[in-house]
Amino acid sequence: MSESSSDWPTETIPVVPAADADDTGREESGRDESGRQDSGRDESGRSGSSGRPSPRPVAQHLAKVLANIGSIDPIQLALLDAQGLLLAEEIVADAPLPGFDNAAMDGYAVRAVDLRQASEAQPVSLPVVGDVLAGARSVSGMGPGLCMRIMTGAPIPPGADAVIPLEHTDRGVARVQIHRPVRSGECVRRAGEDLAAGALALAPGAILGPQQIALLAAVGHDRVMVQPRPRVVVISTGSELVDVGKQAGFGEVSDCNSYMLAAAARDAGADAYRVGIIPDDHARLLDVLDSQLLRADMIITTGGVSMGAFDIVKEALSQLGTVEFTTVAMQPGSPQGFGTLGRERTPIFCLPGNPVSSLVSFEVFVRPAIRKLLGKRNVHRQTIQAMALERMDSPEGKRQYRRGLLHREPDGRYSVSLVGGNGSHLIAALAASNCLVVIDEDVTEVVPGSRVTVHPLMLAQR
Ligand code: AMP
Ligand code: MG
Repeated sequence: MSESSSDWPTETIPVVPAADADDTGREESGRDESGRQDSGRDESGRSGSSGRPSPRPVAQHLAKVLANIGSIDPIQLALLDAQGLLLAEEIVADAPLPGFDNAAMDGYAVRAVDLRQASEAQPVSLPVVGDVLAGARSVSGMGPGLCMRIMTGAPIPPGADAVIPLEHTDRGVARVQIHRPVRSGECVRRAGEDLAAGALALAPGAILGPQQIALLAAVGHDRVMVQPRPRVVVISTGSELVDVGKQAGFGEVSDCNSYMLAAAARDAGADAYRVGIIPDDHARLLDVLDSQLLRADMIITTGGVSMGAFDIVKEALSQLGTVEFTTVAMQPGSPQGFGTLGRERTPIFCLPGNPVSSLVSFEVFVRPAIRKLLGKRNVHRQTIQAMALERMDSPEGKRQYRRGLLHREPDGRYSVSLVGGNGSHLIAALAASNCLVVIDEDVTEVVPGSRVTVHPLMLAQR
């Protein structure tokens, strides 16, 4: 089936996971992105008529992942450390906000009745009996027919009921000439007009941006209970890997996945810890995982999940019985491991090693899981509908994620072209892209000018 439409919309639509379903798919290599999938699958992901196990649909795997992501206990953080997080407590104003009646302008505190006759032609002259500065801890009362010079934010003296701004006066010091009348209450900020004592300032679930942090500070909270950033541990596996900074010799490969995924995890809102490289060694892997469980809210490994003899992540973790390795009907990124480790049932994602497969897997499965741990209501990136600028082919039965470049046309609509080829080792093409072009399972061909779904990769706010 081909997808074609000339009136492509630009509105964003969320990617909604399908309902969870049982699955018994057996693993496949999933390394070859060019091979077409045989189409012996049914809705449940079980074997079709060919007798071969069918890969699990992306939406089904995502639903399964999210169903196994719980929540992290709230913690108390200093105000600025809580930025971007979700409030996990109710904040009630203990005192009124503002805390006292105060001046909204620089001017003179007056009694409105004294200025009833004031005009440009016949100003009213009042004796100035004192100054009230911002920060004044006590203020004496003010009798009829008198006034006090007052600064913005300073307490209104008892007896005064309005402030006449400086610009309607001659700015006198001992006496002042006032050129217009005022209403009672004019330029006075009333105690509690923002929040009454006992009123709800912020409800649980509020996202703490600068505005909310301002309110927390204003009502005197220097620490708040929040849903913490998940601590995400990132581990690269592969005996060929060397750390960045070391010259990669023949047969060696610089580890880019742990850097890429740590950056992606931070971008998703997590605190990322890059553990670095573990060689293809069963015992070393289990050792490191065991020690990392102490601090991790989530673990991500890359590499070693295919069918090879040295794919030790799959080999070591499938024996535990809590991590499932499966083939997902997607390209790239079809071999996926997901499950939990340890007493706390810490979620672990075992992603394929090819950098592009790894990042696509992160975007499709891990990022929503991190967003769920953060307590976000909408865990999915907003997708964009864009016009394909070129022809795109895709194997039937797999959801394909191609690297793309999303453009904004002069009329405001989006268009997208492909960057690089199909190979999931193409890191330079990945770096030149700003989106993934999503070609659905039932679409084999996208013709130029038709509409495609685009999953933006542009960095979001933490
Ligand atoms: P694997 O999934 O372990 O079979 O690895 C697939 C391909 O990805 C191999 O070519 C690996 O060398 C490469 N690869 C695996 N891990 C990394 C990594 N951390 N950084 C860069 N390339 C990697
Ligand atoms: Mg490997």
